Amino acid sequence: MERATAHIGVGSNLGDKLNNCRHSLQKINQLPGYEVIACSDIFKTDPEGVVGQDWYANCVAEIKTGRTPFQLLKDLLAIEYDMGRVRTKRWESRIIDLDILLFGQAVIESNNLTIPHPLLHKRRFVLEPLVQLAPDLVHPILNVTIRQLFNELPKGSSAEVLKEET
Ligand code: AMP
Repeated sequence: MERATAHIGVGSNLGDKLNNCRHSLQKINQLPGYEVIACSDIFKTDPEGVVGQDWYANCVAEIKTGRTPFQLLKDLLAIEYDMGRVRTKRWESRIIDLDILLFGQAVIESNNLTIPHPLLHKRRFVLEPLVQLAPDLVHPILNVTIRQLFNELPKGSSAEVLKEET
């Protein structure tokens, strides 16, 4: 069966943040129909869009899957729920946040799913790990590579690497 390559953004800012990120990837890998191929380094990043929150651990994983983007979303939400994430308001602290950044060259705009992730190209905490895995990947709407998007970010300091991964 034809399998697509997808990139998942992973973040945690509650509890054992590094372990939460790793654990979520193990859970994806254990699901039938999914294989985690690679993971970026795990970075320590400042919260964006909110004040007074603790720092985040962020990484990006590359997966291969024969599932659809909608099935992937459902499975990621189930993992977030299993790991104890409670949704109260937007941007709240979270044990685990799993976002579909890219799903091959798919472009989807529906009520509950937007791919590519609409903030991908604006977020250093996404592009810094993503550029490690897929610098030459072309953004299917913006038609530029991840490396170009990363280089075009407003000036900012590199995030600290918490843990090197392969
Ligand atoms: P949040 O976890 O707070 O970033 O928001 C999760 C919600 O965003 C999910 O319930 C999805 O319905 C919606 N959503 C839309 N596009 C995406 C995407 N590319 N990846 C993950 N969630 C998405």
